[in-house]
Amino acid sequence: MALDIAIRGGRVHDGTGADPVEADVGVRDGRVVEVGRVDAAATREIDARGLVVAPGFIDIHSHSDYTLLVDARAASAIAQGVTLEVVGNCGFGCAPLGGRALAASAIYGFDGSVKLAWNSVGGYLEALERARPAVNVLALVPNGQLRLATMGLVERPATPAELDAMRGMLRDGLAEGAFGFSTGLEYPAERGAGEEELTALVAEAARAGGLYATHTRSRDAGAVEAIEEAIRTAGRAGARLQISHLLPRKTDEGELERGIGLVDDARARGTDLRFDMHTRLFGTTYLDTILPPWASAGGPEGLRRMLDDPDARARARGFTSVVAGGGWDRVFLLDTPVAPALARRSLGEAARELGRDPHDLAFDVLRDAIGAPARPMVMIRAYTPEQQEQVFAHPGCMPGSDATTLAPDGPLAGAVFHGAYSWAAWFFRFMVRERRALGEAEAIHRLTGLPARVLGLADRGVLRLGARADIAVFDADDFGERATTFEPNLFAAGMRHVVVNGALAFADGALTGARAGEVLRRRLPPRF
Ligand SMILES: [Zn+2]
Repeated sequence: MALDIAIRGGRVHDGTGADPVEADVGVRDGRVVEVGRVDAAATREIDARGLVVAPGFIDIHSHSDYTLLVDARAASAIAQGVTLEVVGNCGFGCAPLGGRALAASAIYGFDGSVKLAWNSVGGYLEALERARPAVNVLALVPNGQLRLATMGLVERPATPAELDAMRGMLRDGLAEGAFGFSTGLEYPAERGAGEEELTALVAEAARAGGLYATHTRSRDAGAVEAIEEAIRTAGRAGARLQISHLLPRKTDEGELERGIGLVDDARARGTDLRFDMHTRLFGTTYLDTILPPWASAGGPEGLRRMLDDPDARARARGFTSVVAGGGWDRVFLLDTPVAPALARRSLGEAARELGRDPHDLAFDVLRDAIGAPARPMVMIRAYTPEQQEQVFAHPGCMPGSDATTLAPDGPLAGAVFHGAYSWAAWFFRFMVRERRALGEAEAIHRLTGLPARVLGLADRGVLRLGARADIAVFDADDFGERATTFEPNLFAAGMRHVVVNGALAFADGALTGARAGEVLRRRLPPRF
């Protein structure tokens, strides 16, 4: 029988980390139906001689929850071989939802262009399906939305009744197809969550066979203790654990080594533990993260009054945030029309030059940004290449974008999210070609078979007979990022063809317009 696609003569990696074989790959009806010598003719012939043929890449840590609804082409991801996005990370996400105004603050890339017209995880997954994404998508239930919907924006533990309500929402989300539960304990919505409360929620996820992915309570001072808390929580709840972007932002006193030591100890004790890491030497977040929760309570007008009031500013300065926790010199403002003269500069350095207090300078930017279309973002310089190499070389590490999908044209053309266009390409170029710290097969495994196993997917992330035909074909000598720190919106180089569920989404180095992604729903174990 004729094939839909035949990929001939490539260096085929199966995603398990095993050595590659030179083989043809036949695709029919969305599945891999032949690996080896393929004689049958195909509607579409691909000459892969000299190229790598691998399972499509899995972005285990994505924030594309909303951008996939705005522009479902996921161009930045497809162009670097990504065929599956895991959304709902860091306690942020699109479902379940309570009050819309608060909910929007825990959705990356929210711009109002797509209305939040659902409440449940099931409703959101259906909205995603209607958007017809070019990539496959699956979701975690974000703790930030559970808390915002149940308690509003407050910094205290949940009452027993509130915890019950959150457990109910989580249980529903898991029953409707979510793959696990995520927290972002460093963010205002979740800071008040106590360990008991978290353990009860994580146990709920574990009962459904779901994964626990956590952005830990602190990534500056106290980062090591926060990793301990994550391991303890997952252990007591009996959950599989994924620690998000493990590498602490503060690494000058051995925090990195201690963090990795804790991971190694837990894994040696048999804990099912992996971690993900973004590929930036920077952390990025919104500048308004420096505001204490009370500052945003009165909406935009309340915020303006607060920022115009020197006494209120003085009080707000006492609030220690993710952004300024390690000092202002390492905080760089990204391009923003609100403050063009400060863009791409260290706020600490700029403040010294202007004879200003850096915190005050940041407050000025936030005041000018009230009502602006996009919230100003900052980068926090955090890591050295040596530290990145050390972390990515760890057998428990999976790279991820920690970004949203974007496209250089269309409704997201003006948006910037570091890593969106470059994460997988950077990882491969940096770890395989530049540092020679991982072999080709192992690097591909970290992008494919390993995250698939963590997610419990049997027929994705692997390239073998019967698997879903998610495939990346690329030039291993050329695959790499073109995006740079301040020019982040450039497609990766070296990707040649990308197949999603048997459809060519990228052919001869260009997007085809195919949008064949599926929205995956996890089936619950029988006794749940
Ligand atoms: Zn994240």
